[in-house]
Amino acid sequence: MGKGTPSKGKKNKAASHKTCRRCGHHSYHRSKGECAYCGFGVTAKIRQPGWRNRCRPFDGNKGFYR
Ligand SMILES: [Zn+2]
Repeated sequence: MGKGTPSKGKKNKAASHKTCRRCGHHSYHRSKGECAYCGFGVTAKIRQPGWRNRCRPFDGNKGFYR
């Protein structure tokens, strides 16, 4: 991926994600209608990864629950 239009050409449109009204994270996808963080719009329960998939402070960069 370069610096120009291929990588940044679509960055001027409306934000794909907005603040989720259930978890408050900026992970609610507007067009898909679902939150990537808590699963709002997909599940009635808060998305909770299993203990094996959950990010813990000592096991590097998995990106959830930091
Ligand atoms: Zn959410």
